[in-house]
Amino acid sequence: MRGQPKPGCCERCRGNRLVRVIWGYFELYPEDARALDAGEALLGLSHRYFTSVDPTLVVGRLVVKRSELPSWVCVDCSPQWSDLSRLASLELRASSSTIEALREGLQEEDLTRLAMIRGEQERLEMEHLPKYERLLRELVPPESQHRLDA
Ligand SMILES: [Zn+2]
Repeated sequence: MRGQPKPGCCERCRGNRLVRVIWGYFELYPEDARALDAGEALLGLSHRYFTSVDPTLVVGRLVVKRSELPSWVCVDCSPQWSDLSRLASLELRASSSTIEALREGLQEEDLTRLAMIRGEQERLEMEHLPKYERLLRELVPPESQHRLDA
């Protein structure tokens, strides 16, 4: 799913520093990786934060339909998108190491390494979750935000 077409400019500031947000990824496509490096895209959250049926983002008590998440954001108006992207890239690095290890074929000694990477990924997720929830409450239009009941 590629999301909405790129708007001509930011509705708020009329600037043109709009970047694409990549959501729900397992790994990055080469074009996504290039766009990230070039500053033309930012990382949203990975597939681990989405339900598989009727893709919906669930972060703490915040719930947003995949289709209502912004595809293009203005980094001048909302620099917090860069914070979100930076945190998400740490998790992506950990999960890429896991995928790489699995691809190379698991040796006995890899299991320990895999368990360590896995632990690191889970630690990052727990640490990042409250930050994601706070950032997304600021960034996602309020009408798209739903709440999980306690
Ligand atoms: Zn703007």
